Amino acid sequence: RPVILWFRRDLRLGDNPALAAAIDTGRPILPVYILDEGGEGRRPGAASRWWLDKSLRALDVALRRRGGRLILRRGDSEAELRRLIDQTGADQVFMNRRFEPEAFIRDADIAHALKAEGIACHGFNGSLLARPGAVLTGAGKPYRVFTPFLKALLQAAPDRLATPAPETLATPEGLAGEDIDAWGLHPTAPDWSQGFDWTPGEAGAAAALSAFIEGGLADYAVGRDVPGRRGTSRLSPHLHWGEISPRSVVRAVRAAAAQGRVAPAQADKFVAEIGWREFSAHLLHQFPYMAERAFRPEFDAMPWRTDPEGLAAWKKGRTGYPLVDAGMRELWATGWMHNRVRMVAASFLVKHLLIDWREGEAWFWDTLVDADLASNVQNWQWVAGSGADAAPYFRIFNPVAQGEKFDPAGRYVRRWVPELRALPGRWLHAPWTAPAAVQAEAGVRLGRTYPRPIVDHAAARARALDALKAIAARS
Ligand code: FAD
Repeated sequence: RPVILWFRRDLRLGDNPALAAAIDTGRPILPVYILDEGGEGRRPGAASRWWLDKSLRALDVALRRRGGRLILRRGDSEAELRRLIDQTGADQVFMNRRFEPEAFIRDADIAHALKAEGIACHGFNGSLLARPGAVLTGAGKPYRVFTPFLKALLQAAPDRLATPAPETLATPEGLAGEDIDAWGLHPTAPDWSQGFDWTPGEAGAAAALSAFIEGGLADYAVGRDVPGRRGTSRLSPHLHWGEISPRSVVRAVRAAAAQGRVAPAQADKFVAEIGWREFSAHLLHQFPYMAERAFRPEFDAMPWRTDPEGLAAWKKGRTGYPLVDAGMRELWATGWMHNRVRMVAASFLVKHLLIDWREGEAWFWDTLVDADLASNVQNWQWVAGSGADAAPYFRIFNPVAQGEKFDPAGRYVRRWVPELRALPGRWLHAPWTAPAAVQAEAGVRLGRTYPRPIVDHAAARARALDALKAIAARS
């Protein structure tokens, strides 16, 4: 009798605990992916669907090279698993668990229902360094502050060897699957993904990791903040879809430090960022309400403004603040935005425009290839000041100063806001301050070729501080 390997957010063959355990049974393995668009919590956004399309194809290629293939099904996960069990006589299911609250509960329900019929479901952790719940304070409570969490995480996380991808993996014949072309995951009319420069799949993830170790890692602590450079790993979508495990990433980066190829402090800084991913996942698992509401409840009383025009200008990258606009355009064109700019753009929406963080979170959810419920919600709430261990509420990023500091040569803004390309660096981050003759010389006509600022920084800052002070006074 075969066993089912139910692929979820673990679209890889290397260091895959569910796969390793399925192989250990010595039975034939049925690798299946179920597109369940109703039952697994929030439906993936458009950019995520783009990624999933390519990642599943890559996984199928990897399986075929080993004599197997990926069986695709669409519908309710439990019903599809049952159908597969009826068709094949399989009596065990192996899966790496998802830890977002809705998917987690549903997995448990499915396992429970199948168990009642003699089908064993084996769940593993393939996506995090440590399972949520395994890293708790001395008093047995979830951590709410990052630094002690990270310390405890690194102590708790096992550092055992990754299991490599198997060399062969034959799939029993004669089982029908769906055709991925019929799923319509790739956008058609219009195809907005033409600027996406990604290689989804396990091989693409490994290549991104190697490129980073050879490149950005050596200067990561500083380079990670410079959006005009390739100073970060761009592993986030690969990690989200489980095309590489965080454990292999951490091992590889630490090995580079141990071999003297990079300074240990650079590797540590990078591991700490992986730690933020863990912190986000653990928090959401332990405080499920934070996907919808403020982690710190007093922030639910924020006097958010309804401003459809401001929201639309933000989404399109037409706020008149070059760094914000560059980020929002990078997001639309590539499905990704540099972290420094995510912080500034998010802060602009929440603080300068006083628009509810959930509006921004929803837009990121739809447009990011790395859209991840836990990381997205945690980071939006960090920016909004409503999260656990959030930025202090009175920190209001000045988009001009941020641009001057982190994009001093203007490489990033010139790339994404070409209408300002000819403006000298001195005025690039605040074009409205350039003398009329300079604007004219650079072909910039504010209000025509590029918007004037949709809000005045000083006034918006004062408005946000008033609202935030009132909220902070309640806590
Ligand atoms: P690197 O700097 O190379 O970092 C390595 C890995 O560490 C990343 O791939 C990611 O998995 C993790 N990481 C780094 N920073 C963070 C962080 N602040 N929080 C959580 N994990 C982190 N990241 C997502 O993966 N999905 C999201 O939906 C998401 N939404 C965000 C929304 C906002 C408003 C902000 C400010 C940040 C968000 N981030 C999100 C975090 C961060 O911006 C991205 O993880 C990072 O830019 C990805 O690029 P990288 O892989 O090159 O990062």
